[in-house]
Amino acid sequence: MKMSKLFVQTMREFPSDAEVVSHKMLARAGYIRKLTSGVYNYLPLMWRVLKKVENIVRDEMDKAGAQELLMPFVQPKELWVESGRWEAYGKELMRLKDRHNREMCLGPTHEEIITAIARDGLKSYKQLPVNLYQIQSKFRDEVRPRFGLLRGREFIMKDAYSFSTSQEELEAEYKNMWQAYTNIFNRCGLATKAVQSDSGAIGGNVSHEFMVITDTDAGENDVFYCDDCDYAANSNHAISTLPDAVTDGKEYFQKAEIVDTPNTHSIEELSAFLNIPSTLILKSLIYIIDKKPVMALIRADKQIEETKLLNAIGGVEIRIATSPEIEELMTENGFNAIPGFIGPKGFKNLTIVADNTVKDLKNFVVGINQNDVHYVGANLEDLDISELKYFDLRLVEAGEYCPQCGKPLKVTRGIEVGNIFQLGTKYSKPMNAVYLDADGKAKPYIMGCYGIGISRTAAAAVEAHHDDWGIKWPLAIAPYHVIVVPVSTKDEQQMSVAEKMYKELLANGVEAVLDDRDERPGVKFKDADLIGFPYRITVGKTIAEGNVEFVTRATGEKITIKPEDAVNAVIDAVKKIK
Ligand code: ATP
Ligand code: MG
Repeated sequence: MKMSKLFVQTMREFPSDAEVVSHKMLARAGYIRKLTSGVYNYLPLMWRVLKKVENIVRDEMDKAGAQELLMPFVQPKELWVESGRWEAYGKELMRLKDRHNREMCLGPTHEEIITAIARDGLKSYKQLPVNLYQIQSKFRDEVRPRFGLLRGREFIMKDAYSFSTSQEELEAEYKNMWQAYTNIFNRCGLATKAVQSDSGAIGGNVSHEFMVITDTDAGENDVFYCDDCDYAANSNHAISTLPDAVTDGKEYFQKAEIVDTPNTHSIEELSAFLNIPSTLILKSLIYIIDKKPVMALIRADKQIEETKLLNAIGGVEIRIATSPEIEELMTENGFNAIPGFIGPKGFKNLTIVADNTVKDLKNFVVGINQNDVHYVGANLEDLDISELKYFDLRLVEAGEYCPQCGKPLKVTRGIEVGNIFQLGTKYSKPMNAVYLDADGKAKPYIMGCYGIGISRTAAAAVEAHHDDWGIKWPLAIAPYHVIVVPVSTKDEQQMSVAEKMYKELLANGVEAVLDDRDERPGVKFKDADLIGFPYRITVGKTIAEGNVEFVTRATGEKITIKPEDAVNAVIDAVKKIK
């Protein structure tokens, strides 16, 4: 490809809505153009990268024994009603109607469709296990599309689904996919960590996410991990044992009573006023889950993890209640207390759940739905809560102890590039998707599903590999392997050496670009760095002595070598990734 013909318009500035490096650089270097919120055009350079990621994924999936197919992007409502997700999926599911008023949706994932395919075609145990996958665009009407390709509304995903006859068979396939994922991300030049995770809208029991660890804002997940053992989990799933005792051993309150606590709106103010540790306070928080208020109780020095709370209730959408919503709830129950003084006692028809930390509280302090007072020396039985259910609702903090080995946990941030789930019969049962076993008995498939964000993986590679000047693509997923830059296109010797090298690279299967533009060398080098060619061969004045400059983008290493050695170095490097 000649640089003069390459469809690439680099921008002088970063787009104003770009918050993270990959979005900034991919837009500025001419890889992507936004069409509308969360929807991007993949321009030729980007498409080359995406195809390379896809092909690595395809190769490893095929090697792992999976079979590729392609399902429609538009899906009928009926199958989603069968699985129960037409109701359960929430607003991320983009719903539409056709001209006959039939309801449809844009596929955010394809469990329903693949389960319907399986029940039509996989009727006997003899056909199982099977793993089917596709690579395709997905649409999710994300609340906050952001970070360019990292969280789009339309994005490319590889999704695979396995059908087995037993849990053991599913677990074997899960392991098989785990290995395939490890190979895929290694080949893409990405170091990943597999972490335990919540199963979210997909469902199922066991799941792991493959995270690219980063210390930037692009890492939307907090990952808790242990250096002493292999424990690692997304914050929505992480558990820990707590270091501090509930109190420091002192007896703070001899009897239960209501005491004045004027203007103590926060936990800090309350614990300072009463001169007690915050571990002795019961915190009561109001959330709105699927439009209904829910009260969550937790020991006051700890925070609620919203996904855990959502799962405990079995809801779809969660947020903290607004002041007017809290006021309305209080009024309905005949109270006028403001936040800071709210507690579980005396509510009618309110779902109240408690974190496990509440179990151990004794003679504690709690709001009693009257302003400027608290109930001290209280115990749970004093609060008359009918049917209090306990769950793990607590957000883990670094320094708390590893649930596996007891050493202090650490925290970092990660970009989720892939996800594997053991679904079990979550779809096969409600959809009556069954096979006949050896005794002729109908049984639901034991399923697994396995996703990789193709477009997110490409963007994550930019997050992991860049410097101030631009992208440093890993060779295996770079749009082109090398750029050959004659410093002066008017210099005949420079041009003829550059062209000869370019042709030889092409003839040996290297994806090369020749920068034939009549531009200043500074401009050419800047563009090469921004676009992120893994290698640059510069033909300048030193060609008089028979030398060219060979630059490795990843390391910044510059060496002076003979043109044929530069060509061979690139050919050899490319051979290694094939
Ligand atoms: P997230 O928690 O980031 O919203 P998810 O858990 O909903 O993702 P999955 O349903 O597991 O995502 O989808 C499989 C893969 O698809 C993810 O691991 C991720 O790489 C990719 N993916 C999911 N949502 C998006 C998105 N909005 N934009 C780009 N890629 C995405
Ligand atoms: Mg996920």
